[in-house]
Amino acid sequence: IPAPASSQAPSGVWIDKAKAHLLQNYKQQPIVLVRGRGSRVWDADGRSYLDLLGGIATCALGHCHPEVVAAVKAQVETLWHVSNAFYSEPQIELAAQLTALSGLPRAFFCNSGAEANEALLKLARRVMKDRGHPERFEVITFENSFHGRTLATVTATGQAKYQKGFEPLPAGFQHVPYGNLEAVRQRVGPQTAAILVEPVQGEGGVRAAPQGFLKALRALCDEKGLLLLVDEVQTGMGRTGKVFAFQHDGIQPDAISLAKALGNGLPIGAMLCSEEAAKSLPSGTHGSTFGGNLVSATAANVVVRLIREPQMLREVVEKGEYFMARGRELQARLPTLIQDVRGRGLLVGIELHQEAAPIVTRCREQGLLLNAAGEKTLRFAPAFTVSREELDEGLRILERVLTPA
Ligand code: PMP
Repeated sequence: IPAPASSQAPSGVWIDKAKAHLLQNYKQQPIVLVRGRGSRVWDADGRSYLDLLGGIATCALGHCHPEVVAAVKAQVETLWHVSNAFYSEPQIELAAQLTALSGLPRAFFCNSGAEANEALLKLARRVMKDRGHPERFEVITFENSFHGRTLATVTATGQAKYQKGFEPLPAGFQHVPYGNLEAVRQRVGPQTAAILVEPVQGEGGVRAAPQGFLKALRALCDEKGLLLLVDEVQTGMGRTGKVFAFQHDGIQPDAISLAKALGNGLPIGAMLCSEEAAKSLPSGTHGSTFGGNLVSATAANVVVRLIREPQMLREVVEKGEYFMARGRELQARLPTLIQDVRGRGLLVGIELHQEAAPIVTRCREQGLLLNAAGEKTLRFAPAFTVSREELDEGLRILERVLTPA
């Protein structure tokens, strides 16, 4: 693979500048990425890396996918942005596509996963008021969940480490153990409005809900008159082998959130909801300046078109099974180092017996990008276009890192 034209300065210069000027809120790996193609990225020093993280399920079609590039370029040359006081064709087309794919007939667009989840939370309160239940405002979410970093979504998140220092947190959230229907049932009270659930807990360590859990939640919501809200920010747009992960369970949520993979790296989030729910957010009740802008919506329309091609999701399933089988072979060779290999489609976790963060660093030093989800789990979320050879290469690097000579 040819090295790209070098950037204006080496990584070190940029990293010094970053330390001087950026908020130090991230635990960033000390590399500066300047170029990408498919599952490869290059840093400012010309080093190449195999990217099996794809920005946590963000660039599902790979970096600089030629069809996304062409469509976005054409759109940028035509019209970038209009306020949501006006209609735009790419946004309308995207709404038509996503509502048809999900069976949820109304779409709202925003810019991120947290913002999409905010829309779900605000929606739940208004639906309950419109149903004559203003006392119902609480949302039940799950321990170990992740829903975002805004004040409401970080409170919905079931991990104290993200909330520490931001108290007092907004009222109206209850956390129960993931996968435990009895615990949910016991927590439902006269104030409960909705249940918010990830089909696979991504940040929580790549843990899929037990078989039948979403179906049981759907039944419980029907019985108690609650909304079932599904956070598909990490799992949506094909990541698990279906367009939406809730479709593995044969259920219909009342509303879902989307972001990450939706724009193949351009910022766009969405909330899709039922007709009844949509009536509770009439004109003037909610909005977002850049939500569903022409450029991001154009990228998303290419994503939708490509993941609708039957072989694309078949490949997600096949490559995911291939990768997990290879991961389990590695586990069989290194049982004292690898505890578990699990996942759905191309969202895969390899749980170690040790902390994952130092292994992530050593993999990066060896030219492999991934990250840690939870304390001990390495998360892989490669582009759907990744090759089996690239998946093998990733596991070879991991094996070398786990078993230094
Ligand atoms: N929900 C889930 C399930 C996520 O994984 C994330 C991001 N990791 C979010 C919400 C928040 O998305 P964003 O960073 O785009 O706000």
